[in-house]
Amino acid sequence: MAERLTIEAALIDTGYNEIIARLTAGSEVVGDCWIFTANGADRAGYVRTHYEGRDQYVHRIAYRALIGPVEGTVDHQCHNEAAAAGLCDGSACAHRRCWNPAHLIDRSQGDNTLASPTSVAGRNARKTHCKNGHEFTPENTDVLTQTIRGRLYTRRRCRQCRRDRGELSR
Ligand SMILES: [Zn+2]
Ligand SMILES: [Zn+2]
Ligand SMILES: [Zn+2]
Repeated sequence: MAERLTIEAALIDTGYNEIIARLTAGSEVVGDCWIFTANGADRAGYVRTHYEGRDQYVHRIAYRALIGPVEGTVDHQCHNEAAAAGLCDGSACAHRRCWNPAHLIDRSQGDNTLASPTSVAGRNARKTHCKNGHEFTPENTDVLTQTIRGRLYTRRRCRQCRRDRGELSR
């Protein structure tokens, strides 16, 4: 029987806790991959779930929730590695259902190396401004953390963007 994925602790309400809990409840652990099995995959092997009023790719939701804003195409390094080793034939495979943030990479960042949580976090931390150009000053930044399977994920949220979206009262 497959191992179920569990969230060990949600330290702070990230605003994504509900969707992460839903993804977690619908996933199995296969190797290092967190495979979302609650919904069927599309023809390319990707899986979507209804979120924010529309169907969205699970791996893109996870990237936003656990790493930060998505700027380009979110790619699966677990699939790329397996394909390079001749273990995946490039068509619809289980890797494309994976939403382990350590396996996801935003191609706009132009990095072909395997994205470890530290390197993703490091790359994210080196960004001095949000995608809308607001500076990540201490006053303008919410730092959010979440622990999944014993690993800590942190992401930063720009308060000015949240104000602009009407999520903050001031
Ligand atoms: Zn994976
Ligand atoms: Zn694959
Ligand atoms: Zn901003």
